[in-house]
Amino acid sequence: MRILVVEDNPGIAAGLQANLEQRRYAVDVCSHVADAWHALGLERFDAVLLDLGLPDGDGSEILRRLRGPRREGQTLPDPATPVLILTARDQVQERVAGLNLGADDYLVKPFDMDELEARLRAMLRRAGGQASPVIRHGELEVDPAARTVRRLGQLVDMSPREFSVLWVLLQARGRVLSRQQIEEHLYSWGSAVESNAVEVHIHHLRKKLGNAAIVTMRGVGYFLPTENT
Ligand code: CA
Repeated sequence: MRILVVEDNPGIAAGLQANLEQRRYAVDVCSHVADAWHALGLERFDAVLLDLGLPDGDGSEILRRLRGPRREGQTLPDPATPVLILTARDQVQERVAGLNLGADDYLVKPFDMDELEARLRAMLRRAGGQASPVIRHGELEVDPAARTVRRLGQLVDMSPREFSVLWVLLQARGRVLSRQQIEEHLYSWGSAVESNAVEVHIHHLRKKLGNAAIVTMRGVGYFLPTENT
């Protein structure tokens, strides 16, 4: 899961980044409206944590543009990207305005990291169209909160990266994702990406979940077959 944190307070931004990375999210941080908008146009994020008071404008401007009209054929920024607003306690009007502009949720500073993660997970779940926290897919039961996978009821041991690859494919069930699209979800900017990392993770996932669990389309990418494909 790749999260964009838009926050100009260096302490809060660093705290969020460290904490979310510890929870296995890939995190990128922007401190200005302009940088954040640029980042959203370049990369696909699974969610945005948005501060409103930014040095070069109001965070709500990002939300307004994100949810606003786009050119034909334009895929990024993705207008459906879930957004959680981070605000100070006295800014009730801003929170209301943010929700009216299409924010999915908000949290008042100072916030508790466990609560933030719970809300983040709920948001990601809604975005994935999942009402149930545990996702069932064929023989698999995947619990994104516990980050566990069961195959035919048996717990499958897997690394955080392997879990992330499976999770990305699961969110896109039935759709083919290129290696690059999978990588984009896994790594933050600046992280070293070994050229064959995705292939290696998929090789390991197949050993654990069965060869048929992940289908390769040569030269295109990978997908999780749904029951009727
Ligand atoms: Ca601020």
